[in-house]
Amino acid sequence: APNATTDTADRALSVLHSVFGLPGFRGAQEKVVRHVADGGNCLVLMPTGGGKSLCYQLPALLRKGCGIVVSPLIALMRDQVAGLLEAGVNAAVLNSTLSREEAHEVERRLISGDLDLLYVAPERLVTPRCLSLLERAEIALFAIDEAHCVSQWGHDFRPEYIGLSVIAERFPDVPRIALTATADELTRKEIAERLSLTDAPQFVASFDRPNIRYEIVDKNNGPAQLKAFIKDRHAGDAGVVYCLSRAKVEDTAAALTEAGITALPYHAGLDAGVRARNQDRFINEDGIVVVATVAFGMGIDKPDVRFVAHLDLPKSIEAYYQETGRAGRDGKPSTAWMAYGLSDIVQQRRMIDESNGAEAFKRVSIRKLDALVALAETAGCRRRLLLSYFGESPAAETCGNCDNCLSPPKVRDGKVIAQKLLSCAYRTGQRFGAMHLIDVLVGRATERVKQFGHDQLSVFGIGRELNEKQWRAALRQVVAMGHLAPDSEAYGALKLTETSRGVLKGETAVMLREETASTARAIRSKSR
Ligand code: ADP
Ligand code: ZN
Repeated sequence: APNATTDTADRALSVLHSVFGLPGFRGAQEKVVRHVADGGNCLVLMPTGGGKSLCYQLPALLRKGCGIVVSPLIALMRDQVAGLLEAGVNAAVLNSTLSREEAHEVERRLISGDLDLLYVAPERLVTPRCLSLLERAEIALFAIDEAHCVSQWGHDFRPEYIGLSVIAERFPDVPRIALTATADELTRKEIAERLSLTDAPQFVASFDRPNIRYEIVDKNNGPAQLKAFIKDRHAGDAGVVYCLSRAKVEDTAAALTEAGITALPYHAGLDAGVRARNQDRFINEDGIVVVATVAFGMGIDKPDVRFVAHLDLPKSIEAYYQETGRAGRDGKPSTAWMAYGLSDIVQQRRMIDESNGAEAFKRVSIRKLDALVALAETAGCRRRLLLSYFGESPAAETCGNCDNCLSPPKVRDGKVIAQKLLSCAYRTGQRFGAMHLIDVLVGRATERVKQFGHDQLSVFGIGRELNEKQWRAALRQVVAMGHLAPDSEAYGALKLTETSRGVLKGETAVMLREETASTARAIRSKSR
């Protein structure tokens, strides 16, 4: 009834002030809170830092009974409960960190109606014991946080999430709210299906982070480029640098430290004490740079991270968005910077090929990688492409705050260049990688070139019009377009594809963007 809704709205606002100490709702929060408080199911998509927690915490307080929150991260549960207790909310956790006695006490409080919010680990919730416990309690709602973990196509699949479909079966009358920060169309559909939310409304907040400037540069010497980027653009700022391997994390942190930048390593191979200390320093001191594997960042809420840098390509747009999203939560200008090269594509493809996933999983992984490569290669607005991936269509063609908008790259006809590359790969037997192909094209008779007799081929030296750097950029783009592909059997080798023929016959247009020392200069002069 309309009266119930108005009533809910008033009560919501009053709890927002009195318990959370916040002046007003942000974006979609108000609609979500009302919908759930009135007993509805829904799926909420909001970027990291958008304020998802309030969407279930507040309705849980408005409804009778205890709100059950499923969350995969123990550290995150602990932080949230601490915050709630401080605000005077009766909150608790139920996970593997509790002793038997502590767990019994929490269970007793749940049954006696003494709890407002209870955070439960997914693998615990699905046990028969926990389900029957919940059946004896009064439940206000179920909130499934990080709901993309249920998706096998997502970047963060957790098998224990699959069992959560039991919630809808056992508690059909209790409202369910699923929340995630990262979900493309397919993942969203899968979440809705697995959690029986196909008929429920989806509340989607914009994923745009207008204060983040996106920049992707051609990688020729990653560490040196990173040092220059920090010194020129973010001297003294707090930032996160992501690398793929532990060894590279260590090397990069050492190189930055040597350059006078306060940089600390963070990866799963470090002693837990060291890790905790580095994380604490990053959060509490000014101007610390953390060099990390993706293990770092989950649940870290530091508002003034001024830049996130990638020295290696992440594996999907979702991962890229989530990692870069840790910059600029305070809304102030920040930079998402990435250095990327052909070796990144080859390396990621190898990781997919060598994983023991099913064929379908590999295909999806390759598609996700291709989408990120397209973002890295585009000559158009990066923000526009990023948002369109998440199903948004921004009105403006250009955002004015990405490298390509600030300094539009020149694009030229690259048909002949591409033909030379493909011919070279073909003539040398499709068994060689980028370096060798370029040696042959520019006519450099290295030991290896002579060993295979490639200095005798018709393609030897046919590419002297470009230098090595230009060839590398062209080759990377031709691979990104799919006209050449990493061989899944022979690491590093590039072979022709189905579309190569069209290029060789001159039927397929190939546009290449020109490289770009001037781009970096132009962005530098326009920044700040
Ligand atoms: P998410 O889970 O979506 O990453 P959180 O729920 O942790 O985001 O919220 C991120 C930050 O935004 C927190 O510091 C929170 O206090 C703040 N916040 C949430 N809602 C509001 C609001 N309506 N007004 C002001 N700050 C808010
Ligand atoms: Zn742009």
